[in-house]
Amino acid sequence: MKILVLNAGSSSHKSSLFDLTSRTDGAGSAPTPIWRGQLDWSHQAGQVELSAHTAAGESIQEVITTDSRQEGLECLLKTLHQGSTQVIGSLSEIDAVGHRVVHGGQNYSDSVRLTEAVKTTIHDLIPLAPSHNPANLEGIEVLEQLLGDVPQIAAFDTAFHASLPAAAATYPGPYEWWEKGIRRYGFHGISHKYVARRAAELLNRDLAELKLITCHLGNGCSLAAIKEGQSIDTTMGFTPLDGLMMGSRSGSVDPGILIHLMRSEDYSADQLDHLLNKESGLLGVSGVSNDLRGVVDAIASQNPRAQLALDLFIHRLRREIGAMLASLGGVDALVFTAGMGENSPLVWEKACAAFQFLGLRLDPAKLERSPDDQDIAAADSAVRVLVIHTQEEWAIAQDCAALCQPQSGQ
Ligand code: AMP
Repeated sequence: MKILVLNAGSSSHKSSLFDLTSRTDGAGSAPTPIWRGQLDWSHQAGQVELSAHTAAGESIQEVITTDSRQEGLECLLKTLHQGSTQVIGSLSEIDAVGHRVVHGGQNYSDSVRLTEAVKTTIHDLIPLAPSHNPANLEGIEVLEQLLGDVPQIAAFDTAFHASLPAAAATYPGPYEWWEKGIRRYGFHGISHKYVARRAAELLNRDLAELKLITCHLGNGCSLAAIKEGQSIDTTMGFTPLDGLMMGSRSGSVDPGILIHLMRSEDYSADQLDHLLNKESGLLGVSGVSNDLRGVVDAIASQNPRAQLALDLFIHRLRREIGAMLASLGGVDALVFTAGMGENSPLVWEKACAAFQFLGLRLDPAKLERSPDDQDIAAADSAVRVLVIHTQEEWAIAQDCAALCQPQSGQ
C-alpha cells in the first residue's frame, strides 16, 4: 500500500510517500518515506522553491515561476513519477492520501475519511485557523483533481485534545464564549499522540498506566499532560498563540496589554496579530533570531537581550511543566520532541534542573543529540526523561492505512 501524506501550510507544503508493502523494518518503528518533497513560497513573490529527494539518495531542487499553489503541487507530484526522483510509475499507484489539517474544532476526536461534509466543516472552521485551514482545504481539492476518487483522510491537530475535561478546556470569560466555541482546543495533537505512544513503547509500559508530560518544542511550542493515553491538559488554546513562549510567538500574555495598546497606540486587530505571532517570542525579546541556535550564538557574544530571551523561554517552560504536573498529580516521564526538544541539550538541562526536587536526574553521559530516540535520565532518576523524534507524517500515514484498508468496508 502506497500512502501520500500532505502537510499543506500557508507558506510551504511538505509531502512524503510511504510504501507499506515493502517495509522490512519493525512494525512499531517509523519507516523512512521512499520520497519526500517540499514547496516553499516564502522566498520571493511569484516564485516557489521545489525540492524532492528519495530514500535511495536522488534529489532535485528548482525554482518555479508561478503564483498558483495548484501548479506548484502538480510540479511537486510529477517528481514522484518522472526524472531522477521517480519512485512510482504513475500517480495511479497511490492508494490513499493523508492530509494534516490544523483545526477540526469540536467536531473530530480522531482522523476521518474525507467526505463533502468533512470538507464543509474544515471550511466553516476557517475563521478559527485563517492561515492554515484554507491551505489544507486547497491541498485536499488539488489532490482530488489529480488523483480522482482515491480515498483521502484528514488528521486534525486538534483531535487528540478533544478529551480535555471541561475545566481545562473552558476560558473563564462569560459562559457565552463556550457556547460560541471560544474554548481551548489545543494543537500539535498528532505529535503529542505519537510521542506518547512511542514513550510507552520505549518504557515497555502500558500507555494506559502512564502519566506523561510531552513537550513539543519547535518553531511553535506546546505541552500536553497525558493520563491513561488521553490529553487532559495542554498549553495552546483557542489558537496556537496561547501558552509557552515560542520562536516568534509570544505565548500567554496579560490580555490587558492588548487593550492598552489598542487604546493608547491605536493598534488594529491585524497589527496585534502580527506583533504577537511574528515579532514576539525569542525573536522579539532577543532582537536577534526566532531560532534558538541564533540566540545561543548571540549569548556567546555577550548579548544581554539574547540571554534574557533564553532565561524567559526556560522560565516559562518550567512554569508550564509545573502546571501540567499539577494537572496530572505526578509524572512518570517527561518527553522532549520537535526542533528544540530533539536537538538542544541546553534546553533539557535547564528545564529539568527545576524538577530535581521530584528526584528527576539526568545522565550527564547522555546529554548529546542522537538520531535515535533515547532515555536521558540517570538510572536512579524517579522520573524518566525521553527524547523522541516526532514522526507526524508517519502517524498520519498509519491513520490513513487504518481508515483506508479495503477490508474496512469503506
Ligand atoms: P521545528 O518547528 O520542529 O522544525 O523546529 C524548528 C526550531 O527548532 C528552530 O527554529 C530552532 O529554534 C530549533 N532547533 C533546531 N535544531 C536545533 C539545534 N540543533 N539546537 C537548538 N535548537 C534547534
